[in-house]
Amino acid sequence: RDSVASRGLGDVYKRQHINLSDDILLRMQQPKLALTVSIPVRMDDGDLRVFTGYRVQFDDTRGPTKGGIRYHPSVTLDEVTSLSFWMTIKCAVMGLPFGGAKGGIVVNPKELSRLELERLSRGYIRAIADVIGPKRDIPAPDVYTNATIMGWMANEYAQIMREQLPGVITGKPVHLGGSLGREAATGQGALYALQQWVARNQLDPGQTTVAVQGFGNAGYHFARLAHLAGFRIVALSDSQGGIYSAAGLEPELIMQHKRTRRELKAILYCDSSVCEEARYDTLSNADLLELDVDVLVLAALENQITEQNAAQIQARQLLEIANGPVDSRADAILSERGIPVLPDVMVNAGGVTVSYFEWVQNRAGFYWDEDEVNGRLKTIMDREARYIFELADDKQINLRTAAYLHGIERISGAMIEHGTREYFQQHLSLIHISEPTRRYAI
Ligand code: NAD
Repeated sequence: RDSVASRGLGDVYKRQHINLSDDILLRMQQPKLALTVSIPVRMDDGDLRVFTGYRVQFDDTRGPTKGGIRYHPSVTLDEVTSLSFWMTIKCAVMGLPFGGAKGGIVVNPKELSRLELERLSRGYIRAIADVIGPKRDIPAPDVYTNATIMGWMANEYAQIMREQLPGVITGKPVHLGGSLGREAATGQGALYALQQWVARNQLDPGQTTVAVQGFGNAGYHFARLAHLAGFRIVALSDSQGGIYSAAGLEPELIMQHKRTRRELKAILYCDSSVCEEARYDTLSNADLLELDVDVLVLAALENQITEQNAAQIQARQLLEIANGPVDSRADAILSERGIPVLPDVMVNAGGVTVSYFEWVQNRAGFYWDEDEVNGRLKTIMDREARYIFELADDKQINLRTAAYLHGIERISGAMIEHGTREYFQQHLSLIHISEPTRRYAI
């Protein structure tokens, strides 16, 4: 798919650094299943509305497919397919026993009442129930879906199947079988990846300045944990704008204020003691991206660094927590400028890794404490990040290409075990050579 190949996979598909069988390239061109459903929902005022939903399972060679469900007015089948492809790569990069999937509903959830949202979410599960399941395809939250919605969905699936199957969906509330540590997992995993990078490059966290674009679930937990780990968070922004302090910001306090004041900039004018003591400057989102910092963290949306601003980036390295925040042209510019980009398929994989832990706990019926969750996440993240950094050095390629190579190698390893053209040709020629033996065997 053009949209898929244009982001990050170009070098891999050109087979510049990997010897891939034609079979594997053919199988990675299109999804295994792409389902479009219509979901009729009775609205609170009595009207009927019919929503469009999608579920795409890209590849399940390595295990049941896994991927979130997005509620957004601009969801398209093409977007969901691209995201399902990225999930396939991401699960392989982390060595999780999953393929990749993604789902979505074309809806602006902010326009729906809670009851309408519940009816829509349950209706979506009824529409896709035949293709999901703990051993087939396991959804999770994504943009504008959350733990509550996952709880409704798990409950709807249990009613359809007439048994409790919490492993059908992850990202559930902890009281309904969710995993401890899931909420902070993406930020936590991103920090582990950054710490590996910092150690490898002999940087001192205390001297490392960090700017974070996006102060939502992923960006907030990353900033909070990075601050606790000794990094200096000098700038934060959300959709309303950003704040800057050369001396460093305290993300937890700022979140408390954001929750009461509803925007970061309001902190400037608030009258509590914290605000009186702190000195912040405001800055725009565009300015934050171009700050002279050691690490620029992108934790908001896709396509934030493009051809337009890639040349102005002053950060020494970029950490992609959002999916696809650097577009392919900007990626090439940054690569030419020698600015390393720690890629999304590795950096933000803490979320799906802890989702995997949730699924394991649900199926075992045995629940872990938070330290165990974080300890296991750290083991996986450290191992895979180190491997990718070494691969990039060995082959003299950028980190994104190294991550894709690593993921594709695992997927291709699984496909090869099922047999490829090369395997069957070799097998046929073996039979041909040993004709007398073959006749004897028959
Ligand atoms: P979220 O909705 O909680 O937060 C998004 C944040 O970005 C908000 O603070 C919003 O105000 C801010 N924002 C929006 N536009 C902005 C702009 N132009 N400039 C600066 N900030 C802006 O979402 P999230 O769950 O934190 O996800 C953020 C990104 O991380 C998404 O790309 C998502 O796909 C990716 N991601 C999240 C997870 C997870 O577990 N939450 C896992 C993997 C990837």
